Amino acid sequence: MSDTELHAHLYGSLLLDDLYYLYSRNKPRWSIFTESFKKSYFSDPDLSGLFEKSDHSRKRLEKYYYYLSSGNFSRFQTSFDLVIALSSTEPEELQEILKRVSGRMKGYSELRMLFSPFDPPEAFSEKVGALCEAIASENRVRPLDAPLKLAVSLNREEGLYQSRYGILKHLQSVNPSVKKELTAIDFCAKEEGFPPSEKYSFVQNVLKENEAFPESSLAVLYHVGESFSDKSVESASRWVLESALMGCHRLGHGIALGIDPSLYSGRNIKEHKKERISHIEFLFQYECELKDFGYSLNLDELQAERNTIEKMPEDEVIIHYDDKTVEKTRIFQNWAMEKIKKTDSVIEVCPTSNQRIANIKVHDLPLWRFIENDLDLVIGSDDPGILKISLEDEFVLIQNELKKKNLDEKILEGFVKNAEKSISEKLSKRLI
Ligand SMILES: [Zn+2]
Repeated sequence: MSDTELHAHLYGSLLLDDLYYLYSRNKPRWSIFTESFKKSYFSDPDLSGLFEKSDHSRKRLEKYYYYLSSGNFSRFQTSFDLVIALSSTEPEELQEILKRVSGRMKGYSELRMLFSPFDPPEAFSEKVGALCEAIASENRVRPLDAPLKLAVSLNREEGLYQSRYGILKHLQSVNPSVKKELTAIDFCAKEEGFPPSEKYSFVQNVLKENEAFPESSLAVLYHVGESFSDKSVESASRWVLESALMGCHRLGHGIALGIDPSLYSGRNIKEHKKERISHIEFLFQYECELKDFGYSLNLDELQAERNTIEKMPEDEVIIHYDDKTVEKTRIFQNWAMEKIKKTDSVIEVCPTSNQRIANIKVHDLPLWRFIENDLDLVIGSDDPGILKISLEDEFVLIQNELKKKNLDEKILEGFVKNAEKSISEKLSKRLI
């Protein structure tokens, strides 16, 4: 079994006892949790004596924190918001949390950390420095082949990710721990409204800097195609493809690329006009390739559709999933997978997270189509604390399903090997 963890969020790896630690040192910002709870569950959480040392209170805290059922992204976020409400992410807290999580990570592990967009540059610098120094100190006592590494998650908002990347590169030049332990940047949190194409020139710039300064290169990790409530499956799978084509090293989840479109049969999906037009332009661009792959497309019809959409007073178009749309979507996904195979991008699959957060049944996980299409995959646990799972559990889940599907269990060994060659330092060519 693999113990190389390439997709885990530091604060999503906390256990209940860590929440008691956070409560003992910080003044909770309860409104973050209560507002989120109300939005997701349409009621108020019972906070009275929540941290009292009684079985009753502990059980209530467990219920609020661990996300064990299948629901939706908003309910999962409510569990995460409990952590946010309790934490301060001050340097001392980060160092203690890192130490606790390190004790649970058996093998080589890359941990992701998203800082508040409201942290001023000095606070952000201080926190990243403290975290990297804590990692360096843990690595001195961890086995040599199982170090921890950091991926700083950047906010997707224009302006913020560029300035924070600039700060990270500066920190790498002045702080040896940051230079060594920070091995990737990541984009996470809300995807809707942030097309990857907007990050094209930024990613090219990172890749250029990696080439110029390989000793401090950073892999680009990108959560994409995980949440796509505002667009069609086809547009969302295009986002995954575009992320691979622009050179992102690892893609988080990519559910849209592999989800069975027949799960949408009979449904109407709303898509923003701008998105549909972007998709039409993309279809124009790849007309020949798509046609060769068996995707039926008529340029005149598409042009007419575009003209109609541009004149429409409404902001959204409605896409109806009839049999034809389902089949076209499937062909588009298969074509996109073929193209991704020709890039160096690796897809990070987190089965339990996909099951619970994206509400997908085990036999419908995109993983099976990724396997069928022979994509480069690694397995991650995403938020092992909140989801109350381990990386090993993820492998057991896949193994059981492989047995049911009569598929070769050797696939698991492939995941292990892939993980070893897909660590950030290798993908960004820091280690050659
Ligand atoms: Zn994630």
